[in-house]
Amino acid sequence: MNFSLAGRTYVVMGVANKRSIAWGIAKSLHAAGARLIFTYANERFEQPVKKLVDTLEGQDALFYECDVTDDQAVANTFSEIKEDVGTIHGLAHCIAFAQKEDLQGEFVDTSRDGFMLAHNISSYSLVVVSKEAAPLMSEGGSIITMTYLGGERVVKNYNVMGVAKASLDASMKYLANDLGKRGVRVNAISAGPIRTLSAKGIGEFSSVLKKIEEDAPLRRTVSQEEVGDTAYYLLSDLSRGVTGEMIHVDAGYNILGLS
Ligand code: NAD
Repeated sequence: MNFSLAGRTYVVMGVANKRSIAWGIAKSLHAAGARLIFTYANERFEQPVKKLVDTLEGQDALFYECDVTDDQAVANTFSEIKEDVGTIHGLAHCIAFAQKEDLQGEFVDTSRDGFMLAHNISSYSLVVVSKEAAPLMSEGGSIITMTYLGGERVVKNYNVMGVAKASLDASMKYLANDLGKRGVRVNAISAGPIRTLSAKGIGEFSSVLKKIEEDAPLRRTVSQEEVGDTAYYLLSDLSRGVTGEMIHVDAGYNILGLS
């Protein structure tokens, strides 16, 4: 078994800054020798992402702007990637968004627009991205997405994002079934709470971190790097028999009932 990703190319979507889970994934893939392609939401992220990637020694990365709410932008991004590199071997989808007012209070108060926005960016985007990326995985490939326990259980303040994650989790399984016959695997990582730009929008996030430190079997939270190493497993041949699966990287918190 070869553990190196040398000669392989992976698309990482969703680096915003050094705290991003996508950045933890990029570092793990880089350490394994992969060539990386980064996509960012809009031009505001271009320079910060390029500056971060400069710190990855010897990385010959490519960069594309890609707003996942725009079907044409997604199609154009992958057709440019095809022109520039030909084949890709995997993709990490690390993208989500919901309005701040929908991440506090009660789920029952979610507006139609807030519901649609969260589902559009956080769930449907995996479908359109997989549709456009899979044809570039001519040697087989692996797609991963990032989910959270709030899609499986009710988590205070997570609200519409929990419902969007449930949709994302189901989409991951349907995509795994569709793309499996083309040699493309699709899996999800359910990460424990990590302080990132997106997490800032969730009400009372600090108390969630504290609760994990007190109650999780490992009595601590997880890091971007730990998620990154599980992403490496799912994006490499080590996981070649695994598809349609969700792996919790959450210090074991998901196994708890009443404690
Ligand atoms: P982050 O803010 O660093 O990353 C979110 C990314 O989504 C950003 O790069 C942002 O630009 C991008 N994005 C938003 N709208 C977009 C659009 N229209 N087009 C393209 N990109 C867009 O935060 P993160 O916590 O690293 O989030 C990454 C993923 O991990 C998300 O799916 C999030 O739900 C998931 N996740 C996070 C946690 C956590 O506690 N931080 C836990 C479990 C799962």
